[in-house]
Amino acid sequence: MEFFIRLGSFSCYFFLFLFQTSCFLFVKAPLPNETKLSGEHRHPKNIVLFIGDGMGKNQLRVASESRFGGEEPQLFMFSLPVFTEITTEALGGVVTDSAASASAMATGRKYAPGQLSFDADGDGKQPETLAEFFKNQGKSLGFITTDQLIGATPSAFAVHLPDRALAKDIVKNYLFSLKPQIMMGGNAKEFDEGLIRQSGAIVLRDKASFKALEGQKSTPPMILGLFGFDRIPYVRNRDDSIPSLPEMARLAQNILAHDPDGYFLLVEGGRIDYAAHENNIDYLIDEVLEFDDTIKSVIRNDKQKNETLYIVTADHETGGLTITHNDAKNSGNLKPFNIQWHFHEHTKEPVFLFAEGPGSELFKKARDNTDVYKIIRQIFSQK
Ligand SMILES: [Zn+2]
Repeated sequence: MEFFIRLGSFSCYFFLFLFQTSCFLFVKAPLPNETKLSGEHRHPKNIVLFIGDGMGKNQLRVASESRFGGEEPQLFMFSLPVFTEITTEALGGVVTDSAASASAMATGRKYAPGQLSFDADGDGKQPETLAEFFKNQGKSLGFITTDQLIGATPSAFAVHLPDRALAKDIVKNYLFSLKPQIMMGGNAKEFDEGLIRQSGAIVLRDKASFKALEGQKSTPPMILGLFGFDRIPYVRNRDDSIPSLPEMARLAQNILAHDPDGYFLLVEGGRIDYAAHENNIDYLIDEVLEFDDTIKSVIRNDKQKNETLYIVTADHETGGLTITHNDAKNSGNLKPFNIQWHFHEHTKEPVFLFAEGPGSELFKKARDNTDVYKIIRQIFSQK
């Protein structure tokens, strides 16, 4: 498959993709050497963590160039002021899965693939996840994904289990232990009707049911949105009854923003990974663009912008996607490029991390997925 980029508007971000970090210094102001936060509004009240599942650097590049042709503005996430790359390996340096990588971001430690923030040492003490930490601080919690709600990425923040396949335990933990104020995703079949009734959750089954919550003036005890029997369909296969990722994320943000103590919102672009496993470039582009639109939509919708820390990253790369340019086919100022998938599985390729908001400058020093947890804890532990 061929795409075209305009050489006439040779943007810095094009360099960024070629030389990874070298260009960034030319367009961004130098970061302060300080490691402590300072000044007014430097301590965020809210935090939104966006995770693109399987969203490697070249997945972003292909989606960006397919929409913008290499011209500014490119993907919205590239406009966030802090940028770095992080490694994603699981315990022992092996290729990760979503469970191990999300658990590393949730708790700051390494895990074997399949484990959900689970300490296998046997002392019975489990590490506190970010979601548990923020709940203990009195903040409201939100989990939004286009994958199954019991999928490994959100679940790693919510449970402590030795195996990501323990669906029933994940459901019970959401409904009766962690009890997020809002959670939405796919896979209604794992959520037993009796358990839902017992939990008292307000259940949303389609986009029309969003309307009932629009006038909501306070944070309700628990909202459970289940769309699609299994996963939420790919963007191009969805019907109008199913909310988009931006719609779900904005609803969650509006509801959580009523909490005067602040909130922690996790938003996963869950189907990017599925498209990459299938090596389906058309699905992949749709899913990455929807994820980017979600970030833009949530940041622009934020009425407490000076109080919210935004982080955008991925759990791992999937598919070993590469891009090569073909000078021989150059036509005018359009330059064709070819993409190639090398695997159907995850890889060890580092992923991007972008950040904005109070405290975000500290993410410049992030080098590994465990640093996501460590830096967030540093920011939210300072007074
Ligand atoms: Zn995967």
